[in-house]
Amino acid sequence: MSCPQCEKIKVRDSFPDSLEYARTIRLLKDMEDAGEIEVTYATCPFDDVFGQGRNRGKFYAKRMFHQVRCTKCGEIYGLICDVELGDAQLKVNAKVFDPKDYPDHKSNNGNNGENK
Ligand SMILES: [Zn+2]
Repeated sequence: MSCPQCEKIKVRDSFPDSLEYARTIRLLKDMEDAGEIEVTYATCPFDDVFGQGRNRGKFYAKRMFHQVRCTKCGEIYGLICDVELGDAQLKVNAKVFDPKDYPDHKSNNGNNGENK
């Protein structure tokens, strides 16, 4: 299910290169600014993914996840990027991500090798 508003979000199993991932991040940010989607979960702000925000050039974790919901039809899209693997996926998600649904997943806070 998608609608004219969110059909420009392309579901895919793999990204050919980081440029394509960058384009997708920019598209989602533009759509958020336009009120077409709302961010339901994000490991870091869109601006920080490529170091334009206050955390310039830093990756928060080895895996980045951005989940958004279309404000028109309610479809939920999840964009996962595995930085180590160098690939990403964009999928339709059945529901909004809630970290509490994954009790076995250890928090990575303060343990990702970042020096402040
Ligand atoms: Zn939609």
